[in-house]
Amino acid sequence: MKQNQLKLKNYMEDIVVLLIEEVIKDKDICKCEQCRLDIAAIALNKLPPKYIVTGQGEAYAKTDLLCRQFRTDVLIQLLDAIDIVSKNPHHNTF
Ligand SMILES: [Zn+2]
Repeated sequence: MKQNQLKLKNYMEDIVVLLIEEVIKDKDICKCEQCRLDIAAIALNKLPPKYIVTGQGEAYAKTDLLCRQFRTDVLIQLLDAIDIVSKNPHHNTF
């Protein structure tokens, strides 16, 4: 019998990663991996986790739905995180 690969997943993480790309593309800030991950970490620490159980296939429709629902909250935290990271990058600026 073939079992579905069920996994526990924090959707907030996907939403943050998706929205970061959208938010930083118009901003005059460093867009390296270090800075993007720093921004994601700061935002995710302030946002409530949204754990769901995922199987194969169903993941994306739900991401889309949650994405719209939490978009505003996530955007607020992202802008805040961008502000923090752009003022204190964890690497030398050139
Ligand atoms: Zn950087």
